[in-house]
Amino acid sequence: MKQRKIPLRKCTGCQEMKSKKELIRIVRNDEGEFSLDRTGKKPGRGAYICPCSECLTKAQKSKGLERSFKAPVPKEVYEQLLRELSGEEHE
Ligand SMILES: [Zn+2]
Repeated sequence: MKQRKIPLRKCTGCQEMKSKKELIRIVRNDEGEFSLDRTGKKPGRGAYICPCSECLTKAQKSKGLERSFKAPVPKEVYEQLLRELSGEEHE
């Protein structure tokens, strides 16, 4: 009997390992643009985070996203992500 492995990813905010389904992927493309990836298929370097503003704030304070992307993350990106996240919570 084969068991399907659930791929786990670490949240950049709370550092907890969770399944990809529970997390949101943030992608940085070759142009250095950040976006939320709901399909999990966007090209570029990705980081995962829980879909909650708390984890986003934690990631911002600990510079977890900067470490994941090995690049500076502008404040506007966090603000945009926060807006998109809070939009999703109401779905
Ligand atoms: Zn988290």
